[in-house]
Amino acid sequence: MGRPILAIVGRPNVGKSTLFNRIAGKRISIVEDKPGVTRDRIYAEGEWLNNYFSMIDTGGIEPDSEDIILSQMRQQAEMAIETADVILFMVDGAEGLTATDREVANMLRKSRRRIILVANKVDSHTPPSTIYEFYELGLGEPVMISASHGYGIGDLLDEAIKLFPEDKDIGYEEDVIKVAVIGKPNAGKSSLINKILGEERVIVSDIPGTTRDAIDTPFNVGDDKFVFIDTAGMRKRKRVTENIERYSVVRALTAIERADVCLMVIDAEEGVTEQDTKIAGYAHDNGKATIILVNKWDLIEKEDKTYLSFEKDVREGLAFMAYAPIAFISALTGKRINKIIDLIKVVSNNHAMRISTGVLNDIVGEAILMNQPPSDKGKRLKIFYATQVASKPPKFVIFVNDKELMHFSYARYLENQIRTSFGLEGTPILFEFRERG
Ligand code: GDP
Ligand code: GDP
Repeated sequence: MGRPILAIVGRPNVGKSTLFNRIAGKRISIVEDKPGVTRDRIYAEGEWLNNYFSMIDTGGIEPDSEDIILSQMRQQAEMAIETADVILFMVDGAEGLTATDREVANMLRKSRRRIILVANKVDSHTPPSTIYEFYELGLGEPVMISASHGYGIGDLLDEAIKLFPEDKDIGYEEDVIKVAVIGKPNAGKSSLINKILGEERVIVSDIPGTTRDAIDTPFNVGDDKFVFIDTAGMRKRKRVTENIERYSVVRALTAIERADVCLMVIDAEEGVTEQDTKIAGYAHDNGKATIILVNKWDLIEKEDKTYLSFEKDVREGLAFMAYAPIAFISALTGKRINKIIDLIKVVSNNHAMRISTGVLNDIVGEAILMNQPPSDKGKRLKIFYATQVASKPPKFVIFVNDKELMHFSYARYLENQIRTSFGLEGTPILFEFRERG
């Protein structure tokens, strides 16, 4: 399920951050991979009446030095138009309409995005007379709020929820493998997607994929069905400003949430960067299957076994996903691109794997025989039995006499035994230890 994205656009000081902070629940941090530019708080999660959404922290954009307010606003609006599903356009209800408001309103109106006009700083019951000026903007009736007092926020969120797109929740058939291509800007994600789709044997179906606003790209390879998640703006590459590119991270994160398999694209020339680690970490934390693709391999001067030292570096940088297969590819020359589909099928199968309790307990029983469970202060860990309780990713519950006795190294040993027995390459697996008296 993809969370809709909400953005707040408006002049400085109209109260955007105040509203953002009121709505924001958990914040998601991403550190910009450039020296001296640290932007955490890239977005926050919001929730209203059980509707979950992501909110872009426009407060995080700092104007470039030569920027005047209007050009800064243009960028902000452009970013929101590119990224958000619903835009809250905030004006200052106490101050009234300004020329800048008009400019921005024009941009937003032309974008044909879903926009809610929000007049903030309406702190009293009787709206100020200036409020009627805002009707001129052609964005409908302003929703009056006071962000600092907390008035009208519920009504505003009611309106926003009504505008959330339904098609983001497109339910694909069980057998469609949902793939998100993730990684830093310029790692080669769009090139990779175009290369895979460009291969003759890939049929791009014309169901949702081709309409103007479509965000996903379904395709078939033989009898297998796939969909690239959230490829809007990727396949037909437009020139995008850096600011917008930065916010593509937000899109990447919501794409990960909808995917089964993530293709983590790494730029071979740069190696694993901190931003790569964060993005891959997000895939891991969300329990997605992952394949690591070291792209631009054509640019690397190769000596004997170059790939081995590369592999070592990648494994170190992404140590938390030792399960992920690594392929060295070139989206430019097409090198090893034809292996990717097979890899996707393998890791997707593993991600969805269901292991019967009987077979699982045979493996766990053997593991216990080969390597005795740990003991502490004269008490030995007893493992009663194991059972799989979920898939995508596989999750196992192991019943024990005393959870405190389950040393993490023994837990890792059990994980490795299960992994080697069932070949769970590419997928994280989860364990929960429960006590049984
Ligand atoms: P931003 O630059 O758009 O993010 O604006 P801020 O959220 O930083 O708010 C700018 C100023 O307006 C701050 O001093 C806020 O306290 C004030 N402010 C925000 N919301 C309201 C409101 O509803 N009523 C009043 N009177 N002041 C507000
Ligand atoms: P994205 O921002 O991750 O979607 O990256 P793009 O697909 O737009 O690629 C960024 C740049 O890297 C473009 O100039 C591509 O032509 C180039 N590029 C992508 N893949 C490769 C590759 O495998 N080898 C080389 N040499 N260049 C590549």
